Amino acid sequence: MSEAPGKTGESADDVNDCYQGILFVISSPSGGGKGTLIKRLREAVPGVGYSVSWTTRAPRPGEVDGVNYRFVSEVEFAAMIRAQGFVEWAVVHGHHYGTTRAAVAEALAAGLDIILEIDVQGARAVRTTMESVVSIFILPPSFEVLRERLTLRMTERPEELELRLANARGEVAEYRHFDYLILNDEVERAAAQLSSVVWAERARRERQEWVARRVLKTFGAPAAR
Ligand code: 5GP
Repeated sequence: MSEAPGKTGESADDVNDCYQGILFVISSPSGGGKGTLIKRLREAVPGVGYSVSWTTRAPRPGEVDGVNYRFVSEVEFAAMIRAQGFVEWAVVHGHHYGTTRAAVAEALAAGLDIILEIDVQGARAVRTTMESVVSIFILPPSFEVLRERLTLRMTERPEELELRLANARGEVAEYRHFDYLILNDEVERAAAQLSSVVWAERARRERQEWVARRVLKTFGAPAAR
């Protein structure tokens, strides 16, 4: 489907004749603005699911368990690792974060594209273990702007903030392993670019084969060559 994805599955001939969700991985340093851009994307583009990660970090004021993250103890997280419940997990800024197999499977089974908002280690792991991942790096315009954004949002204690800024130096160097780079200097333009990437990836010819087959049938053309 070239617009909002969804499942069809009309007959035995139509096996695989439906939208296969795309796995998007989005990374940036902390304060890079990926949260805002992903929110804009989900408001602007239908059919985009989001994987709620598990973390051992404490909730910030206003964060809701099950919406922003599943906030769990170190013991629960370790048990989940042992049960092989994660597609990927990593220690980021001193806390554990992980993406569950269930979250990814549910979204893809519902015919949704899915966004993993994860750090660069997680992005690397997903790229190596999962097929046809589309990865997007959000780059802040400068180190100083990043510092200013992180300071203004007042969500971290000073030492935590410094750790995030120190880690940002290594994280930005990872941009070269991603398929797309979006400079987040101007939020409107960056949000438009992110939506464009999603639309463009949906329109890739190999993802539109099932649409083509369906339309070609109406022409009496052979379904596949
Ligand atoms: P924050 O504490 O600011 O919410 O997130 C810190 C970092 O952890 C961000 O870079 C965020 O993208 C990353 N992160 C969030 N969830 C996951 C996850 O499930 N796996 C990995 N590897 N990183 C995550």
